[in-house]
Amino acid sequence: MSKTLETFLSDSEIKTFDANYRKTIEHNVVQYDKKVIEGKEQFSNIELAKKRAAYIKNKSIENLDKYLIEFESNFIKRGGKVIWAQDAEEAIKESLEIIHKAQAKSLVKTKSMVSEEIFLKEALKKNDIEAIETDLGEYILQLRNEHSYHSVTPAIHLSKEDVAKTFNEIKGTPLDWDPQQITAFVRHELREKYSKADIGLSGANFLIADIGAVAITENEGNGMMSTAFPKVHIAIVGIEKIIPSLSDLDLFWPLLSTYGTGQSLTAYNSIYTGPKQQEEADGPNEMYVILLDNGRSRLLAKVEQRQALSCIGCGACSSVCPVYQTIGGQSYGSTYSGPIGSIITPHLKGMDEFKHLSYASTLCGKCTEVCPVKIDIHKLLLLNRRDSIQEKLVTKTDNWMWHFWKKAMLKRSKMDKGGAKWKNFMIKQFFKKSWGSRRDLPQIAPKAFNQIWKERKEG
Ligand code: SF4
Repeated sequence: MSKTLETFLSDSEIKTFDANYRKTIEHNVVQYDKKVIEGKEQFSNIELAKKRAAYIKNKSIENLDKYLIEFESNFIKRGGKVIWAQDAEEAIKESLEIIHKAQAKSLVKTKSMVSEEIFLKEALKKNDIEAIETDLGEYILQLRNEHSYHSVTPAIHLSKEDVAKTFNEIKGTPLDWDPQQITAFVRHELREKYSKADIGLSGANFLIADIGAVAITENEGNGMMSTAFPKVHIAIVGIEKIIPSLSDLDLFWPLLSTYGTGQSLTAYNSIYTGPKQQEEADGPNEMYVILLDNGRSRLLAKVEQRQALSCIGCGACSSVCPVYQTIGGQSYGSTYSGPIGSIITPHLKGMDEFKHLSYASTLCGKCTEVCPVKIDIHKLLLLNRRDSIQEKLVTKTDNWMWHFWKKAMLKRSKMDKGGAKWKNFMIKQFFKKSWGSRRDLPQIAPKAFNQIWKERKEG
């Protein structure tokens, strides 16, 4: 068993039996469900909106090369710089070069899954560059030295009491502070950081090809502050974030906010077309967009599975997933968790090491049902399972087990062989470990239905 799988199993078990965690997450999920129902009311025909969004994203992914070049040529027209990074190492190297060139010692950072994907924070720390998270959820997690729990609501697993305790322990604030008091405290702390930071670092929700721009959606205004004050803005963005046109935001912004948080529209939606222009009062002097591949081309090459790149990162599939709700986002051991994370992580980081995520699903299909860009999520999970078998990544025991199972299932006489006692013994041999010690293994009935039926007919 690989170390990654071992950690996944043990972390999942801890979370599954943590009653406090279950209570917090259940409360937050109920709130989320209610809000999404309200958010959907703004669409006169939500199914049509989803179909259109799926069409646009599929078109973008099928023509990724064309749209990325279009984005680049339009973005550089206004003085922006585009850097293509093949992998995490290149993206970090390029980011550090920009940071060193600007002689920067600190940067303010908005929420960005891509920067977590490439372990940017760790690289900055090694280079003595202070990186301050400015999204409230991420700021809390930075204090707790934890990774994001959820792509949209990173600290959804924490109760207000957990957060107050964290601030009390680390910042010395009163233990009975409510969320408003804590938010005001963080806002005050961050003001100073914004004005002193040399660099603003962000991700992006969309890359807009026809105007060469980066679109960022957020609820706290921290994204705007992080990119308006510092002299240099670096946006690190996955290549799949491309959409053809500015007018597509008319559909994607409300869809993203509805399925992400249940809002009609997220509070702050900004479009950045490059560095400050002569007639503009504020903004960075330099703006860089680092276009990150890091395994996305590998996924793009798989015709049946490339639709996973259409993901707009709303997090809805995670929010409704029974497995995710049970084991928690951090147990996945990958930047992208939940159903979509289980699909893309094996392609981005290696099927051998992360194939188990594609098995961590009940295949109930709820993820596919909610996805605003109609990604066939549970089918893609099955295709990953198929790939892992075709690539011979399953254990010999698994192979033997399924070989015998298939043989038995194809012939009644073989199926009946051995009797219930022997079958229960074999089930115990094969499944006891993975079934765990907290529940009883299912038992084969003493008499098969086939046998009962025969006896009844004869009788
Ligand atoms: S796969 Fe669909 S539901 Fe899941 S995060 Fe992406 S867009 Fe949202």
